[in-house]
Amino acid sequence: MTCTLLQFRRLAHRPWVLALLAALLSAALLTAASVALIIHQNRAAESAQMNASGERFLLRLEQVFGQLRLGMRELESQPIRDCSAAMLALLQRVGVDHRFIFETSFNDGVQGCSNRPGHPLPDFKRPPDLSGTTYGYWLNTSSEPDDNLAALLMGRGPFRVSTSRGHLADVADLPKGASLLVIVDNGRRAVPVLGPAQPWPPTPDWPVAPGNALTTQGDRLIYRMDTHVPDYQLVMITPRPAPFLKNDTTLWLLLPISLVLALMIGWMTLMQVRRRRSLEGELQGALRRNELLVLYQPIINLHSRVCVGAEALVRWRRSDGSLTSPDLFIPLAESSGQIEQITDFVLARLLDQLGPLLRANPKLYVSVNLAACDVTRPRIGAVVARLLLQHRVAASQIAFEVTERGLVDVAVARETLQALRKVGHRILIDDFGTGYSSLAYLQTLPVDCLKIDKAFIDALGHDAASSGVAPHIIRMAHALHLRVIAEGVELETQADLLTSEGVAFGQGWLFARAVDALHFSEMVTGGRRIMARRGADQP
Ligand code: C2E
Ligand code: CA
Ligand code: CA
Repeated sequence: MTCTLLQFRRLAHRPWVLALLAALLSAALLTAASVALIIHQNRAAESAQMNASGERFLLRLEQVFGQLRLGMRELESQPIRDCSAAMLALLQRVGVDHRFIFETSFNDGVQGCSNRPGHPLPDFKRPPDLSGTTYGYWLNTSSEPDDNLAALLMGRGPFRVSTSRGHLADVADLPKGASLLVIVDNGRRAVPVLGPAQPWPPTPDWPVAPGNALTTQGDRLIYRMDTHVPDYQLVMITPRPAPFLKNDTTLWLLLPISLVLALMIGWMTLMQVRRRRSLEGELQGALRRNELLVLYQPIINLHSRVCVGAEALVRWRRSDGSLTSPDLFIPLAESSGQIEQITDFVLARLLDQLGPLLRANPKLYVSVNLAACDVTRPRIGAVVARLLLQHRVAASQIAFEVTERGLVDVAVARETLQALRKVGHRILIDDFGTGYSSLAYLQTLPVDCLKIDKAFIDALGHDAASSGVAPHIIRMAHALHLRVIAEGVELETQADLLTSEGVAFGQGWLFARAVDALHFSEMVTGGRRIMARRGADQP
């Protein structure tokens, strides 16, 4: 079992396996995204189509109601109240004059007649399905697909006018199995005007929230039209178009694109992993071949301009003589675990090179950058203790710089830092202000000093919006009795502003770039004040 697991882990670390996984994962994601996009588009198209036919239908309904009302007014406004020839002529004329009036009829309980002789008269005794303020309305609930049937009747007293199913159907353009329903009795009853009867209510939570015109229920679409009349609602129910991805041309276009993109991602992963592996290998070789070196960037007292210490910065000089920036290989070393070797190397090298200088200047210190994994393990304490003993240097002369990223697990970090501080090391928070954490957590951590990130120093005197950040950090740090070092000071104006804000220490190209041990020793032993010097950042 363990063997199989081990084999699997080894396999999973192969570049081509990682590339394949990346390609498969991105293919799955891209295909899912394509399908989701098409589903979304289809839904939008469905909705637009339903909206359009709904609007067309409502417009037609308005025209129909308008003409039915006119017809009723004409019939009621004349004095004839029997089935005389004059009445028949009148019924015929009203039917002919109005395009959407299909049938006009009269019935006073004694005699009945209509503009369609031989056609059965409507049932004048039937109570209306809907009672308006002036007229009653009857809906023909027959589901016969006959266009020459009175579908919607309007009437009062002895008169009825109606429109045919065809006049409504020709705008609604309903697909097979679809229905147009009038919903009455406060949403409880559905009367089909067109198409077959449908189970009602269509969803248990009917009526759905206002504004939610289109609802999907299984393989049916339910579309509610806004009638602006509280007495009734119009609802269209249509069967959903059959398997809607089957013949989708967009999908057949997106699928190969997704596949090509996935292959490209796989290829890029392969290249990236190989490059990383080779850089990791090279870095391992660099450690063996002693290609790493340490430079020292002076930290100075802003007031006296005297060097009080330095930050140790690592460099990688390749066999061809080129220098690789730590910004490139430190993150890689952090993820590959090689960073511990680098930290140990920096500590050993700095004590080798500066041991005598530190012994001769007990107030001088060098700060060393710690990576997140240096902070999460207590290992570093033992390493530095052994070196300090060997070189007879005081713990107070080695400070440690920790970034806010290295403090993700505050509880563990606190323990490591506490132990380092207990033996005399100073703890500096590096790149302060760029992390997520606030000053509040500092109160809970064993910290001596804040290094304000270069970004805030750059803004000093330039950018009005962020130039206020540095003074704010400075005041807070002082309130917490923390020292402050300003990083990346490049201008005399910045140094002046910092001094006026009460910052005692600075580091930056205005004073000195990172120099080798020999130059740094000269700077210290010469005891010179550092005045805006710009040495080359070269060993
Ligand atoms: P960092 O700790 O913030 O180091 C300061 C960086 O700012 C250094 O870059 C330094 O050369 C640069 N710098 C200092 N003053 C100025 C200035 O006035 N203007 C400008 N533009 N830059 C200035 P470097 O040496 O390239 O280091 C980059 C980063 O690499 C460091 O940032 C640190 O995070 C990391 N690093 C360097 N050495 C080590 C190391 O030994 N261990 C670990 N864990 N990280 C290291
Ligand atoms: Ca640093
Ligand atoms: Ca920094």
